[in-house]
Amino acid sequence: MADLGTVVVIGGGQAAGWIVKTLRKEGFEGRLVMIADEIHLPYERPPLSKAVLAGEADIGTVRIVDHDAFAALNVEAWQPECAASIDREACVVRTASGREVHYDRLVIATGGAARRLPASLVKTSHLAYLRTLDDALVIGQRLRESHSKRLLVIGGGWIGLEVAATAKKLGVDVTVIEGAPRLCGRSVPESVSAFLLKLHRDNGVDVRLNASLVSLDDFGYGVRAQLADGTTLDADFAVAGIGLTPHTAIAERAGIEVNDGIVVDEFGATSDARVFACGDVANHPNAWLKRRVRLESWANAQNQAIATARAVLGLRTPYDEIPWFWSDQYDVNLQILGDIPPGATPVVRGDLDARRASLFFLDGDALRGVIAINATRDLKVAKKWMSQGRAVDIAALADTAKALA
Ligand code: NAP
Repeated sequence: MADLGTVVVIGGGQAAGWIVKTLRKEGFEGRLVMIADEIHLPYERPPLSKAVLAGEADIGTVRIVDHDAFAALNVEAWQPECAASIDREACVVRTASGREVHYDRLVIATGGAARRLPASLVKTSHLAYLRTLDDALVIGQRLRESHSKRLLVIGGGWIGLEVAATAKKLGVDVTVIEGAPRLCGRSVPESVSAFLLKLHRDNGVDVRLNASLVSLDDFGYGVRAQLADGTTLDADFAVAGIGLTPHTAIAERAGIEVNDGIVVDEFGATSDARVFACGDVANHPNAWLKRRVRLESWANAQNQAIATARAVLGLRTPYDEIPWFWSDQYDVNLQILGDIPPGATPVVRGDLDARRASLFFLDGDALRGVIAINATRDLKVAKKWMSQGRAVDIAALADTAKALA
């Protein structure tokens, strides 16, 4: 193991949490500094748009380690503190408040921020974005107030749809406006977009596709959205989920290569061998997808961070996980594993209308990706086959009379 004095981690999210945990687990005994702009201990984000909004979870349930376990890691947590610059020649990180720390190895796990609507459109304070635990606590409180009856969701991606589902569960009327012709168009095929549209409409959500927002103004005690086609939509407040902007600026200013995220290799190393990056902010060569990718998922934040922390210590195991993602909406658990090529026609097992189906994406007789809707068992079997590189019997895949395994 490399003889390192100090490792500095910029960021305090899930990836940063797994970096500090793994460094200590693997025996790193040096100084460990974590610089994070939130006050909370590292936490997981999937519950933010669900249990936290519903008032069923808080920092106590979502954090990665509790206070005692974090204290045992012996991390100098500089919180809340904002890392402002990296001097790679001197190996020093400086913060906005003027503190500085020397590093032997630096890990950038800065994640990203919710993408903002153009300021010229927004003339209301009744608009929120959901990225942090504090965002979720505020939005959740608002959703649960007795006078909050109507919510406008801007963006029909994963945040928008999960917020819509939770709000409906809380008895709030919801309208979703999506700029594209279909929901989650970047990550799922048309049939699954159509499934999600039906799921939300069946649950009473008013979904408007191809909806181009031109203004968002105060109206009475709430907000009024004006669409390009002349439609106006009124609500008590609005939540926008229109994507993520990775926090790459500090790396860029330090001259580290950035191209849709901080460019790293399969060990999380950047163009500077002393500097690593992982999580939402890192763009890595993905062995399964056979291309570079920046993944914004729970599994990537954890597992890429583990591989990166090990590489920091010289324990080099390439990060080669098959990308995996899930979303829970109403009574539906949807999971995506592997490669879902745009426009590809999947083999379908089960019935989307019955809300239980698996869509298999193949290259010849090799399974490349799966979307499983309330079909966790299918996904587990598929993952095993994909990891083994096993050829599949295509006709048998679609035959629900035969057990998949
Ligand atoms: P997202 O999944 O990329 O979806 C954003 C959606 O908003 C896209 O469909 C986008 O359309 C649309 N959009 C953009 N500008 C718009 C506008 N002005 N008006 C209406 N629609 C607009 O991003 P997200 O939902 O904000 O989530 C952020 C990140 O968190 C994503 O990476 C997501 O995967 C992750 N997340 C994960 C989970 C989970 O693991 N279950 C849950 C929530 C969030 P275009 O694509 O055409 O721009």
